[in-house]
Amino acid sequence: MFSVGLTGGIGSGKSTVADLFAARGVPVIDTDLIAHRITAPHGAAMPQILEQFGPEFVASDGSMDRARMRALVFSDESARKRLEAITHPLIRSETERASRAASGPYVIVVVPLLVESGTWKQRVDRVLDVDCSVETQIARVMRRNGFTREQVLAIIARQVTREARLAAADDAVLNDGASLETLGRDVDALHAKYIALALAQEQAAGPHA
Ligand code: ADP
Repeated sequence: MFSVGLTGGIGSGKSTVADLFAARGVPVIDTDLIAHRITAPHGAAMPQILEQFGPEFVASDGSMDRARMRALVFSDESARKRLEAITHPLIRSETERASRAASGPYVIVVVPLLVESGTWKQRVDRVLDVDCSVETQIARVMRRNGFTREQVLAIIARQVTREARLAAADDAVLNDGASLETLGRDVDALHAKYIALALAQEQAAGPHA
C-alpha cells in the first residue's frame, strides 16, 4: 500500500491535517496512538517492559507508569534507548499490519518524530511536512496544553529544526495563519497527487503485486 508519512513539529497541525485527509476517506494510522496502545493494560510491550525495567514501572492496572518512565528516560539516555528497542519494532509491525488491513489507494501514517527517529523515511513512500513558524507552534501549544513558553521551547529544542524537516520532506503544507478552508484546498491538491502516485506505483508493480 502506498504510504505517506505525515510529520511536523509539536503544534504544527499534524492532527488537524490528518483529520482533513480522513474526511476525504483516507485511512490514517497514528503511531502515537499505537505507542499508547502497546503500553496500555495488556499491551504488547508490557511483558518486556516489566522484564527489563521492573514492576515499579508498571502501574496497578498493568499499563506502563508513564510519569515514572518519562522521568527516567528524560534523564537517562541509555534507558530511553532500551525503551525504544522494545517499543519501536512493535510500533513498526503494528503500523505495517494496519496498513495491510486498510483499504484505499493510499494511507497516511502520522509520525511526529519521522525525521528524528531512525528508519521511518525508508518505510514510507513519501514524506509530508506540516510546516509553521516556531512562534505559531509556541502560541498553539501554550493554548492547547496550558504549557509555559519555556516548556514549549524545551520540547521544540529536542526536535529537529523547521529547516531540517522541510529538507527531509517531499511535500509540505504551510499551516501558519491558514484557515481550515485554505488548508482543505491544499489537502485536496495533495490527495489528488497521492492517488495518482499510488496508482502509478500499483501499475508499475504489475497485476500480481
Ligand atoms: P500537532 O498534532 O502537530 O501537535 P494540532 O493539529 O493538534 O498539532 O494543532 C495544534 C493546535 O492548534 C490545536 O489546538 C489545533 O486545533 C490548532 N490549530 C492547528 N492548525 C490550525 C489552524 N490552521 N487554524 C486554527 N487553529 C489551528
